[in-house]
Amino acid sequence: MCGICGKLDQKSLCNKCKIKLQKNAICKIEDYKKTSSYFNEHIYLFQYTGEIRDTILQYKFNEKSYIYRTFLEFIKNNENICAQIKKYDIIISVPISKKRLNTRGYNQSDLVAKNLAKILNIDYNQKVLVKIKDNKPQSEMKQDTRKSNVSGVYKVVNEQRINKKKVLIVDDIFTTGSTVDECAKVLKENNVESVGVFTLAKD
Ligand SMILES: [Zn+2]
Repeated sequence: MCGICGKLDQKSLCNKCKIKLQKNAICKIEDYKKTSSYFNEHIYLFQYTGEIRDTILQYKFNEKSYIYRTFLEFIKNNENICAQIKKYDIIISVPISKKRLNTRGYNQSDLVAKNLAKILNIDYNQKVLVKIKDNKPQSEMKQDTRKSNVSGVYKVVNEQRINKKKVLIVDDIFTTGSTVDECAKVLKENNVESVGVFTLAKD
């Protein structure tokens, strides 16, 4: 089934929607090296608007976990993005709390991370970052409180897996970047070489 239009198809992305996605995609690699961020770059596919926004919301909140295949199908065909991601040694995802994992049934960022690693043959590990505090969803926070809302929420375990490695963190949407920056900060305190960020969209 096509994850965008719902058409019953062998493929997770039908030809019509594929053309539409390609037209809407911006596929950017933004450099953060000269900023105060803990990560070096941000790779993303779409602007968080219109049909893409709707699709991501469906993916995240409507038990449509299969939509990860649609995004993967799209990424697979983008050589630039794939080449950039292949520069990393290990892919991880932003963890969600146990409570939220239980209600949603899946971690939408982790599904993308895991399968991205699989198709590009990169090391993947689910148990590098863990969430140690339950905070309010960032989407419910105002811009100026997003940074404090994620402070001290994540912890690194299995630090030997990331020692001196280039780590790519996967999240679904990039808004202020506070969540991924907090993750990158914690990773950097644990001897990684560098941190990059991949998200489906940027708000
Ligand atoms: Zn379609």
